Amino acid sequence: MQSELKHCMLCPRRCGADREKQAGACGSGARLVLSRAALHYGEEPCVSGKQGSGAIFFSGCSLHCVFCQNRKISQERYGAEVSVERLADIFRELEAQGANNINLVTPTQWTAHIIAALERYRPRIPILYNCGGYERVDTLKRLEGLVDVWLPDFKYADGELAGRCSAAPDYPEVAVQAIGEMLRQCGDPVLNQKGIIQRGVIIRHLVLPLHLKNSAAVLKRIRREFGAERWISLLFQYTPLWDIPECPELNRALTARERARAEACLEELGFINGYVQEADSKGVAFIPDFDLRGVEHAADLQQ
Ligand code: SF4
Repeated sequence: MQSELKHCMLCPRRCGADREKQAGACGSGARLVLSRAALHYGEEPCVSGKQGSGAIFFSGCSLHCVFCQNRKISQERYGAEVSVERLADIFRELEAQGANNINLVTPTQWTAHIIAALERYRPRIPILYNCGGYERVDTLKRLEGLVDVWLPDFKYADGELAGRCSAAPDYPEVAVQAIGEMLRQCGDPVLNQKGIIQRGVIIRHLVLPLHLKNSAAVLKRIRREFGAERWISLLFQYTPLWDIPECPELNRALTARERARAEACLEELGFINGYVQEADSKGVAFIPDFDLRGVEHAADLQQ
């Protein structure tokens, strides 16, 4: 692990940073940084269930989305340094708390650390890789057999928009290749008797205000590349939290009309599997507290 961090090429940025000496373009150095590890109830029903998902929020991010709802950790990189051994203990603690799964949130830049932790302790519950869809296929291949469930975003079909909002004009092609690899590895979702996902891929798309054309193009691209039987999770939770001068159209929440149009598009294209988020699923209450809970010590089960 140490040697690959000397010339990091884990994500599509391929910035080649020597993370022992300085942070890469994702803002991450060599020491693992986490901001929260606790049961989480805000994911899709087949992920959270009643018992909750064991969500581990990693610091840093290889995408630079101007509207990121988790900016405190993705861009400001709030968190505490922990060892790989501690990450393995966190897996064990979340499993003991009854989590339905281990949910690795924005894990890409820490793939080498995660593999090392899973070599120390492999939970008996599914491992979820919850990411922005901006992934290198070579890196995903290293996770084959370790990750059971993939939850990638497919944010943009429009490279110009991806460049302006996430500094990643290559996003559409990168995401198509990455999701193709995830589907190759794990296929469509398989749920247990309680309706909890054990294996498979759910593709998420966050609808952005005034970008219905992009949403329609994303759904069309998914259908063309992978078929209309794929599981989609259409998200309406976008909430503007600060002024975004680069993309001023994002300075408001979605309207009811935009939500309805996105939902109609999903239906018209023949997608029948997956989820459409409730209209009231937005606002700061929907964003977890990044309070280091469960990071250095086990989370209080009563909280
Ligand atoms: S994970 Fe970070 S350091 Fe590694 S290539 Fe990507 S941006 Fe650079």
